Amino acid sequence: MRDVIKSGIVKPWITRNIALVAHDNQKAELLDWTRQNRRLLSRHNLFATGTTGSLLAEVLDLPVNRFLSGPLGGDQQIGAAIAEGKIDILVFFWDPLEPQPHDPDVKALLRIATLWNAGIAVNRTTADMLITSQLFEADFPTKRPQFNPNGSKADFVGVQ
Ligand code: PGA
Repeated sequence: MRDVIKSGIVKPWITRNIALVAHDNQKAELLDWTRQNRRLLSRHNLFATGTTGSLLAEVLDLPVNRFLSGPLGGDQQIGAAIAEGKIDILVFFWDPLEPQPHDPDVKALLRIATLWNAGIAVNRTTADMLITSQLFEADFPTKRPQFNPNGSKADFVGVQ
């Protein structure tokens, strides 16, 4: 990454597509974090699962593209959007203390986001680090997985 910065490839500013998701016990924390970062978030396209999205739109007074509620398939919809290259950052305050009815979907979303090399923050510290990174709004080449016809695993290639 440092090489990317040094090489001067980084362009000044791009609009990111950011998905925001919080489990019920984490919603207050995510709302507080988004309130604190409202100005920067307002420059980007925001997406969210159903309930999280309603709360965010109300609290931030910003447009939020809402998917279904998480337990009804919203996590899967966000995962699909990541795989299609339509979302590049996931801020997901999941609850490590409560089992969720849609735990398999949560795992699937985290897997897909990792596989597709999305920027992922799963708690406030990493969310703070991510949003204050100089790469947050920088246009730099992101590596994407590409199916390797000679084996079962995906190769990572630099595309974007
Ligand atoms: P919600 O879904 O925003 O609809 O509450 C979040 C989740 O549980 O994934």
